[in-house]
Amino acid sequence: MFIDLTPLEKRPQLRIEYEYPLGTLAMGDNDFNLQQPCKVTLELQRRGREIHAQGQVLTELAVLCDRCLSPITVAMDSKFNLIYLSLDHLTGSDKVILDRQDLDFSFYSNDCLDLDELVHEQLRLELPMSNLCRPDCLGLCQKCGQNLNTAHCQCEEQEIDPRWQALRELKNK
Ligand SMILES: [Zn+2]
Ligand SMILES: [Zn+2]
Repeated sequence: MFIDLTPLEKRPQLRIEYEYPLGTLAMGDNDFNLQQPCKVTLELQRRGREIHAQGQVLTELAVLCDRCLSPITVAMDSKFNLIYLSLDHLTGSDKVILDRQDLDFSFYSNDCLDLDELVHEQLRLELPMSNLCRPDCLGLCQKCGQNLNTAHCQCEEQEIDPRWQALRELKNK
């Protein structure tokens, strides 16, 4: 969704509330699987040629456990504070500011702000690096793929087997 920024020429502020329904926001390599509609609140303020964007992204995402690949739900609550610069009027002094790594910059052009891109970026930043269904998840057996949280597999026993084999050999002597 694109937000028309032209009302900001007449008003100092613009407040937007938007809800992405289930099944949306899946695009490209950021395949976000919404478990709850994604609520976005956004307050825009024009300061000179900059647009300051402040708000919140609230939803629940379905992801896979890193170890056992079972689906889990991650609650997302991302607050953001961004500065948008117009790509149409980027000047030399703006480029100096852009070298400052401590500030979060995004860009808009044609008086339009890409809300999808903003939300994607926030979800990507907020999503934990590791996701586990439980802290002590046993994962999958590397040999047969059995989910070891739900059942044992035969591979384990086969690993113990050589020892039993040795015992058996002793017995037979
Ligand atoms: Zn797991
Ligand atoms: Zn196995």
